[in-house]
Amino acid sequence: MKELFERSAYLQALWDVASEMYLVLDRDGTILDRNPLADKLLPVSKVNSLAEAIAEPDALRQALEESAIQNRPVSIQPLTVSLAAEASLEITLRVTPIREVQRSAGVDASPPERFLACLARKSNELDILEETARLNDERVERLRERLTLVSRELVDRTLQLAEQKNKILTIINGMGDGLIGCDDKGRMIQYNDTARKLLSLPEGDLTQKALSGVCPELAEALRLDSFPLARRTQEELNFPYRNKEIRVGVSPIFDDRRHAVGLVLILQDRTKQAEVDRMKSDLISIVSHELRSPLTSIKGYIDLMISGDLGEVNDSMRSYLSIISSNANRLAALIDDMLDLSRIESGKLTMTFGKVDVKYLCDYVYLTIRPQAEQKKLRFNLEVQSRAVVSGDIDRLQQALTNLVSNAIKYTPVGGSVTIRAAGQGGNIHISVQDTGFGISEENLKRLFQKFFRVKNEQTRNIGGTGLGLCIAKSIVEAHEGQILVETREGTGSTFTIVLPEYHS
Ligand code: ADP
Repeated sequence: MKELFERSAYLQALWDVASEMYLVLDRDGTILDRNPLADKLLPVSKVNSLAEAIAEPDALRQALEESAIQNRPVSIQPLTVSLAAEASLEITLRVTPIREVQRSAGVDASPPERFLACLARKSNELDILEETARLNDERVERLRERLTLVSRELVDRTLQLAEQKNKILTIINGMGDGLIGCDDKGRMIQYNDTARKLLSLPEGDLTQKALSGVCPELAEALRLDSFPLARRTQEELNFPYRNKEIRVGVSPIFDDRRHAVGLVLILQDRTKQAEVDRMKSDLISIVSHELRSPLTSIKGYIDLMISGDLGEVNDSMRSYLSIISSNANRLAALIDDMLDLSRIESGKLTMTFGKVDVKYLCDYVYLTIRPQAEQKKLRFNLEVQSRAVVSGDIDRLQQALTNLVSNAIKYTPVGGSVTIRAAGQGGNIHISVQDTGFGISEENLKRLFQKFFRVKNEQTRNIGGTGLGLCIAKSIVEAHEGQILVETREGTGSTFTIVLPEYHS
């Protein structure tokens, strides 16, 4: 019972708020009940029968009949409601028989006598359609506006890109250095006027042309055919070309996945610079030669005076002469270093290559320098068992190793130790000089091999030197296709290692 009450309450609520018009009709179309919305169109005060209110009463009766007999909903449309007060109105009507149910049996008791009629204004549907169309139009309009905006943006971006490209091209073409970009097949993808002039490249569009066809000499210097792109790193090389000295900076280009996809070449014309360098080194060479001869005679006479061969020399005179002699020796060492360096730089340092026994080389340097080490009370060790042989100029290799060992002695305080070692390692010979000296800071390490560089601090202040020893050693080792490695820690010591390829007959 309670359930029944609740259900009828729901139905009443639906009936009251329904957005359709509902009528309860009998078989003749008489209105037995109407919901509030239907009452607005067909007010109870004016209309008792739907059949009277519409222009097609027969159609209504026929639909009611059909619905009753077939016991199912029947729709008719359009019907015209014509009330004096209102302009005629088209509606659609759907009548559904209301069945009387015999509760105990649960089956229909008799043919339906009452019908639920649902009325919908035709114009409502049209309104909805029109509204939908209007909304769609608005949406289309908004889309069109957005599209116009996007295409305007696209045009702007394209213009910006073109402008940027132009700017980049102007910069590239205005560069004082030559620029060439190559793809992974060695084809030119970008180049500028300076590169064209520097390499005297042919006229016309060279993009997509192989560099090996356009400038075979450069392609060969870069080893484009033989050196795989994937193994390339940044490098610089001197490229002498048709009376020009060109410095070529080579950088591989990588994509997002770090795959090498090409090369960028920066070409600098160093012809004038090379000429100036040559003149500088000639000047150093001439000046050094001119200084050397008088210095040799000064040193000779001082030695004679010290020995007493030129007459008696008292103690204080001897001490002054010793100071002059040691300074003359320092000057001579500086001149020798400068001469060596200018010869190395101008390529005039002649080297006579032969087989060099590494043990012999180390023994020789050890024995030569031992007196200095003993004088400074250092533990001086030689640990060389290797019978390895390298290909090189024995005098120059002795000079390079002597520079490293005498540095180790100079920059290790009294009581410390210096050790020379040599051993083979992966086809190379490592000759190392380890000391327990001052060590070198990271800052100074970067400039260690520069010409005339000397570490300036409390510890090194009173130690003589030219700042050329390491630079000369490095040049000599590199001329032997080797390198010098440095491991060092300030306050702990340093190890300088000469790495040379082992000799194979
Ligand atoms: P120098 O004639 O001054 O020794 P070098 O070119 O041989 O010139 O060395 C450059 C500088 O490097 C030195 O002035 C010194 O400060 C530093 N140096 C070289 N070798 C060592 C070493 N074994 N321990 C500490 N410092 C060193």
